[in-house]
Amino acid sequence: MAGEIEIKEIYENGMKILEDLTNNAHELQEQMLEEILRRNAGTEYLSRFFPSGQADKLNFKTNVPIVTYEDTKPYIDRIANGETSSILFADPIIQFIRSSGTSGGQQKLIPITAESFEKGKYHLFLVDIVTKKCFSGPDEGKSLSLYFSKPEIETPSGIVASPYLTFYSKTDIFQSNLAKFCTSPIETILCLDNKQSMFCQLLTGLLQRDEVVQLSSIFASVLARATKFLEDYWRELCCNIRTGYLSDWIIDPGCKNAMSLILTGPNPELADLIQQICEDKSWEGVIKKLWPKIKYISSICTGSMSQYISLLEFYGGGIPLVSPSYVSSEACFGINLQPLSKPFDVSYTFLPNTAYFEFLPVNKDGGGKAQETRTMDKPVDLANVKLGQYYEVVVTTLAGLYRYRVGDVLKVTGFYNKSPQFQFVERQNVVLSIDTEKTTEEDLSKAITNAKLILEPFGIMLTAYSSYSDTSSIPGRYVLFWELKMKGSNDLPKLDAKIMEECCCIVEESFGFTYKALRKGGAISALELRVVKHGSFDELMDFYISKGASITQYKPPCCLKSEDAIKILNSAMVGKFFSPKTMFLSALSEG
Ligand code: AMP
Repeated sequence: MAGEIEIKEIYENGMKILEDLTNNAHELQEQMLEEILRRNAGTEYLSRFFPSGQADKLNFKTNVPIVTYEDTKPYIDRIANGETSSILFADPIIQFIRSSGTSGGQQKLIPITAESFEKGKYHLFLVDIVTKKCFSGPDEGKSLSLYFSKPEIETPSGIVASPYLTFYSKTDIFQSNLAKFCTSPIETILCLDNKQSMFCQLLTGLLQRDEVVQLSSIFASVLARATKFLEDYWRELCCNIRTGYLSDWIIDPGCKNAMSLILTGPNPELADLIQQICEDKSWEGVIKKLWPKIKYISSICTGSMSQYISLLEFYGGGIPLVSPSYVSSEACFGINLQPLSKPFDVSYTFLPNTAYFEFLPVNKDGGGKAQETRTMDKPVDLANVKLGQYYEVVVTTLAGLYRYRVGDVLKVTGFYNKSPQFQFVERQNVVLSIDTEKTTEEDLSKAITNAKLILEPFGIMLTAYSSYSDTSSIPGRYVLFWELKMKGSNDLPKLDAKIMEECCCIVEESFGFTYKALRKGGAISALELRVVKHGSFDELMDFYISKGASITQYKPPCCLKSEDAIKILNSAMVGKFFSPKTMFLSALSEG
């Protein structure tokens, strides 16, 4: 009973802290900048910008340039090669965090200090409180949380670099929470072989099916991969449960050891039950059936992750899909204070105590009627963002990032107390372009959302997509890759050329005016839609993982730049379709 009261207190305190943070957002941001300047103004990087020695907000705003990773990289490289981290920031460095680099950019090394880690940890604690409070009963049940590790690398100076989760999973706080609240033993998360890790994590989740109240991962791409893995391995998982013997290809000593404490004997009843569920013709609602006490799925499913929403809604069978937070290797940004909002309506409330935020206004045209223009203006503070306006977020941290462009475009959707709330719009610079038009990640996502509606009555699901600008012939064209499957099975749908061509048309119709004008004028060729077989996007993910990306942080690239990645999807192609020009032109003249 005492435990329950304690937990209630923690939750009440957490909510009070959130109120304080959001009510005092402006003052806390000012204090944050003052603190960063107080500690770091004397570093080699910053001191150049304060020749008078007066490191105040005004001089910061006037003199310190807004930069990208490329500008900071020479300093990071010097630290990685042995110079002291105090050339960039005052506090000691703990290690580097390796960002994913899959959503459009390169992999980056971001320094982390004890304090920036504490701030991140605190952010996660608040996220947890908000989400669990919404689903009452934080103390009951466990989470099947799918986390994965990557090997650590060492820089020439001996500083460790790893993805955030790999770093975090080695901390005491992570390990003690995991043991209390999650089904996966730590050894299965630390296992560097992702396949063995996934198998064991799903197996422990199934063995504890009556305790699981939450299914989670950081990004939705992991859950999409897990459902595919379940489809491929449920028979073997059942066999392990039925016999009580772990598959002999699980050779990782940590996994074997941990599993020996959980898979302690045959359980044919459970195996029969799982088999019966998985043998169902349709996998609609399979997550709810496998884990009957589940209350919600928690995973970031906004931005490029929104392509997995329909898949997770289908497998979830009505379980709420919660997109809990907006975070990056550079800083923690915001929390979703309304966990029950529909994935496409999610906004994140910025918390003012993790970093100093500025916002570069981004001009986006209304409704795609004119060519996209993006004029960069002076950045504004958190206190001065305007409702309905688009911004690119810029951060200044205690750990060496100063006026650093994160590369994400956000839209202000409201305020919670004095803190702005943002919808994630897109990664900046992820664009398809053949001529003067620019089609952004958001444009593409909206166009595909429109087009896929016509597949639904036929029971066809779009489970993943990507694209590239094909300029190998003149004029060039947009190429889309779609992975399709039937709702009831993994069979490839019968592809009716007429329907698929209509999809191409709807995508083109949904693009902006400039695209349509250029297409009509013949400067852009008909859009091409390549359908790829089930599992192809898993192969794409494997490819990026082999190049150093971590599963946990993987973001499917909406727009492919790598020739090898394009080759992988091309080799999985099972059908291709072009937008019929006549249909397109009639649609254009009607519009
Ligand atoms: P990483 O570079 O691997 O640290 O990933 C950080 C990036 O992931 C961010 O800059 C965003 O582009 C993306 N991201 C993180 N959280 C969200 C979110 N809630 N919605 C959409 N994209 C997100």
